Amino acid sequence: MRVLRMLFFAFLFSSGNLISQAATNHPKILLIYDMEGVSGVSHYEMTWVERPEDYARGREFLTSDVNAAIRGLAAGGAGSIWIQDGHGSGNVKEPDLLVDKMDPHAQFDFRDRDFDPYDTGIDGSVDAIVCIGMHARANTDGFEAHTVTDRISYRINGVDFTETHIVALSAARWGIPVIMVSGDNLLGEQLKPDFPELEYAVVKTAKSRALAEPLPSAEASKRIEEAAKRAMGKFLKGAYRPFYLPPPYDFQLGFQNWQQANGAATAPGVLHDGETGVRYRSATFIEGYRLSLDALRRSSDALQVLIRILSQDPQGKKYLDQLSDAFWTRWLTPEKPAPHMQPGPKPAPKTRFYGDN
Ligand SMILES: [Zn+2]
Repeated sequence: MRVLRMLFFAFLFSSGNLISQAATNHPKILLIYDMEGVSGVSHYEMTWVERPEDYARGREFLTSDVNAAIRGLAAGGAGSIWIQDGHGSGNVKEPDLLVDKMDPHAQFDFRDRDFDPYDTGIDGSVDAIVCIGMHARANTDGFEAHTVTDRISYRINGVDFTETHIVALSAARWGIPVIMVSGDNLLGEQLKPDFPELEYAVVKTAKSRALAEPLPSAEASKRIEEAAKRAMGKFLKGAYRPFYLPPPYDFQLGFQNWQQANGAATAPGVLHDGETGVRYRSATFIEGYRLSLDALRRSSDALQVLIRILSQDPQGKKYLDQLSDAFWTRWLTPEKPAPHMQPGPKPAPKTRFYGDN
């Protein structure tokens, strides 16, 4: 696909007829959404299945943002548009997006096997990537700022990573660029230095990690639609490059305390880096990314055990509820428990997979 794309642009530039050539090409766009950076989402309950009323409103805003992007992409010349769920809301039954209200220009990427939208969700059949509802990186004041989980800071080759960086470096395996992103004002600032050509739609102002001030819904939709359309136009003119960091990849994960770092350092090849950090190298980005997920799982094992014990006891459940209100239990309950924590073999799931859950 990379070769094909290069040939296509070589042809465009040699033909000197950008518009007519662009019109005959229908790039395949992958749209990955998260939920923290969705336009009307002003507090964390709107991103979490355990708060049904707020979550229902969050899903409406999410669907509205994604549909605005689909309209813009289609108007800008996109061919097929595929949608993936990149948000861990805890909803294991269905995507966070209201699929029946999705703009019919796009298709939802249901699969027979589980996949990680930042990893196996991306392949060389895609021409460009759009990320909707993204959030600022860990240890900053963006709304719900985090990178993968809020327990860590995530740095590769000295670059502080947002999750958008993770998507972009994963996509760069096939020379695929990220062309448009939406989220709060702070994420926009964080992406500028590493993604100079990116079209970014600011849809709200971060007041703190816990609170955002949304734009009126119509204005947010307009910004997303226009940015997506502009991005498609620029893409068809060859304005984007994939995000590049030279190998090998030097991963540094920073934790909140030494216990978490100790747990993470039990992952193969992962070394201590100061009191609360770990560090390792990998030849390819994706190997390093997968190892980071393993290190993260190991960093939270003790907490998982405690949560399991408490959840089996009525009094313990009350404590967990209190904890939930005070510290956003969502972050403390890993979405994918370590293999040895899981109950015995389960029957094959009948549901379709859609990315994160
Ligand atoms: Zn998320």
